[in-house]
Amino acid sequence: MNSVKILAINPSPTEISKAVRISNNLHKKHGPFDGIFFLGDVITEDGSLPEELDEPVASIFHFEGVRKYEGSEKSKLKFMKQCGILRLASGIRVGYVSGKLDDIESDMEKVFANQFLDILVTYQWPTTIAKEEKLSLVGDSRLNDLLEWTRPRYWFCVGSNNGRFFERLPFKWDDDRVTRFISLGQQGTQDKWYYAFNLNLDPLMDKEGVSKFGEKPQIQQKEAPVEIESRKRKLEGPEVRVKREKKNVAPENCFFCVSNAKAELHMIISIADYSYMTVAKGPLTTRDKLGFSGHGLIIPIGHYPTFSKYRDAEEPDKKVEETKLFKEIEQYQKSVVSMFTSLGDYKVVFWEISRANAIHHHIQFVPLEAKLEEHFETQMKKQIAYNQKKYGSNLVYTKDMESEKLSQLINNGDYMQIRIVGPDSETKYVFELIEDNVDLQFPRRVLAFLMKLGRRVIWDKCRETLLEEASQKDVFREKFQPFDFSKEKNNNK
Ligand SMILES: [Zn+2]
Repeated sequence: MNSVKILAINPSPTEISKAVRISNNLHKKHGPFDGIFFLGDVITEDGSLPEELDEPVASIFHFEGVRKYEGSEKSKLKFMKQCGILRLASGIRVGYVSGKLDDIESDMEKVFANQFLDILVTYQWPTTIAKEEKLSLVGDSRLNDLLEWTRPRYWFCVGSNNGRFFERLPFKWDDDRVTRFISLGQQGTQDKWYYAFNLNLDPLMDKEGVSKFGEKPQIQQKEAPVEIESRKRKLEGPEVRVKREKKNVAPENCFFCVSNAKAELHMIISIADYSYMTVAKGPLTTRDKLGFSGHGLIIPIGHYPTFSKYRDAEEPDKKVEETKLFKEIEQYQKSVVSMFTSLGDYKVVFWEISRANAIHHHIQFVPLEAKLEEHFETQMKKQIAYNQKKYGSNLVYTKDMESEKLSQLINNGDYMQIRIVGPDSETKYVFELIEDNVDLQFPRRVLAFLMKLGRRVIWDKCRETLLEEASQKDVFREKFQPFDFSKEKNNNK
């Protein structure tokens, strides 16, 4: 064993039982975790304790936060008092400092001086880092010495009652140790609120130091994400018939896994319980009409290639359509349709390609001017004929497939589905996929020509800068706000 897996979560004190369930699920899917840490407070402002918790499948440690917690004998979580060092089974050393710092200020040196740590958990940030970010409210200068004393490989904190997501560029000490500093947002907010990672048992394996602490870190050009679409794109054009070798992409490298450190968090519009929604990379539609592209994706949170694989693993006694995931995604789709309808005479085109040997399922959508719908099928037929001539593919579709047959397909087969949905209308075009070589860009191609956006067929050529992507997300989120059921739910709880 060279490394262990660790999970850090900033739970909402009113949602502790859900946080435990999520931890258990993540443990099953991405674990086993050597330790799970609940940061911040686990008791609510009125002092009440979590109740009715599922049994944690791995040890969950929590700390005092800023609200006084005396510990409870009944608790299924492991309470670590204000200040100390915990050693996990693997030997990983975890230091923690929480609660009112006045009470422990004098102990801190005794406990931590020259105690190098693998992980350090605090509530506030040290002001040395808070100042770099010009954030004075999240910092406490009494934590500053800890950095030098413990040189933690990971420092986790929350900063404030509602948490604040921030990840500093890693920095290197003169002995080549590397420190990463991560502050998490709170469960139920749009910020990243949990962090799962591999920790090498040997600290010198942490190589990615980019600057010495105190030096201004150089902003690195963000590495191109390991993106599934770019692999898929190789199948375009003449290579479309090349037999695809099955790629095993683990959640750590999966572009659609939110738990992955590489996930593009600046693009996320909304996160619900089983799925989330983001703006698209290299959007097909432009900002011209609505002020934002409107091209988005709805993605299951779990790393499953299809709905049916999710069902098999998570809700095996049900049909796909009855699963919580499927229902929640339907809810997202409804909200998206309501949103675009409120912005003008629009329908929404949703498309998905579901194949057992895919990587992580997702559904894409764009707004479609309602008047274009009548030309859709003709355009699609043209494209089918073109693909047949050019690649010898044989795409056959059924319009408004009978529901029992569609259910069969969704539960057992590979399919491509394109749906045009309005507030009270829905037309489905369903393709049963039998061959392995599928033109994954087919729906985009049809829509591009339908909307006279032929120059935007290839998503990679439509890539935007990080700032543009973030701004697409901001506008989308603002418009989506009134329709975002996940948000509503979070606020009401
Ligand atoms: Zn994934």
